[in-house]
Amino acid sequence: MIPDIDHAYLEEVLLQLLAIPSPVGLTDAAVRYAAGRFEALGIPYVLTRRGAIRATLAGREERPARAIVAHLDTLGAMVRALKDNGRLAIVPIGHWSARFAEGARLTIFTDTGRLRGTCLPLKSSGHAFGDEVDTQPVGWDHVEVRVDAPVHDRAGLEAAGINVGDWIAVDPQPEIQPGGYINSRYLDDKAAVAALLTACKAVRDHGLALPVDVHPLLTLTEEVGSGASAALHGEVAELVSLDIAIAAPGQNTSEHSATVCMQDMSGPFDYHLTHKLIGLAKTHGIALRRDVFKYYRSDAAAAVEAGNDIRTALLGFGADASHAQERTHRDALERADEDDHRLHDERAGGAARLPADGLAAGLHRAVAARRHGAAADAAAGAGRLPRSVHAGEALRPRRPQWLSGGGSASAATGARPRAWRSRPASSRR
Ligand SMILES: [Zn+2]
Repeated sequence: MIPDIDHAYLEEVLLQLLAIPSPVGLTDAAVRYAAGRFEALGIPYVLTRRGAIRATLAGREERPARAIVAHLDTLGAMVRALKDNGRLAIVPIGHWSARFAEGARLTIFTDTGRLRGTCLPLKSSGHAFGDEVDTQPVGWDHVEVRVDAPVHDRAGLEAAGINVGDWIAVDPQPEIQPGGYINSRYLDDKAAVAALLTACKAVRDHGLALPVDVHPLLTLTEEVGSGASAALHGEVAELVSLDIAIAAPGQNTSEHSATVCMQDMSGPFDYHLTHKLIGLAKTHGIALRRDVFKYYRSDAAAAVEAGNDIRTALLGFGADASHAQERTHRDALERADEDDHRLHDERAGGAARLPADGLAAGLHRAVAARRHGAAADAAAGAGRLPRSVHAGEALRPRRPQWLSGGGSASAATGARPRAWRSRPASSRR
């Protein structure tokens, strides 16, 4: 039998990761944090020249190795111009709509420090503009950043230390509901990173024997397209990319299950690897949907386009409103006692409860699966670490200065971020 995953660990890692801004190009702090997590788990890793993390879970044989990749980078923005009205014109980092930047709180990273601000439409005050607030166009040329500093002109912005090209990170606004809904920007792809680390922890905690080396990869430039291409090495034969799965009208994805993507913009994924994942899900009773994504590409495409001769598959957690106000459910990431099957059964008059596992559980089963699909042994006790290490004592992610006070600061310092949680800890499964 393959043991359970640590749900509390998954949630803690997710909230701490979300508290560390990591727009493409400004990912050092997130890399330090993730590296610390691998260290605490006793999993060796190297940093590639570009700063991506390649960890190694050693198997009985080195090859053909497997890799599982998730990305640490997120969307963001950058200062395009210092405006005469004392506000900032901005451009997006990665692809996202300015519609979802309107009203966002954010941090501007200058050469000398950090400033806080808000992204607003050019016409924001209803008392001043009336109906024009609703009729103005949407787009990056139609928003500006109001800096929380006494600046009223371009010279003021310069005096505040702001330059064209300064990075901007938008607040994720994470919130976990008692019923299991997880709302936040940048669940793409921090939820997958948290699931991957949790799967690694399960393998470590239970001393699972792996048939071949598995390389968890954390990449830094997925949102701008280059992703995993540079983080692989020659022995990797199979790559599973973990990313957001698109729950939207017309899609087959659900917020309550994992999704295997059969095809995206880069074409169909490898038949054999994809069906191996589907088979594992069936064997272990994991809720898994199949879907096809139209406007989507991932680290897997980048790896193949870079000339790597590897088989690739894409496994996702179902989430609504991708690259906007994203939402997923605990079910998609960990374990669901009440999933779609159960709902269907109830509608059909039955009361069966079919436990279903989400991304993290499916992952650690995939990692641990032997070549012929048999369940891996649990070598009792091996690789276990003191509980205190897991809780983050060994790891002090640099506290973002802008998180000054309130519940969110605690997430960056390792304590449980109570302000984000309305569910009492005792009720956690
Ligand atoms: Zn992504």
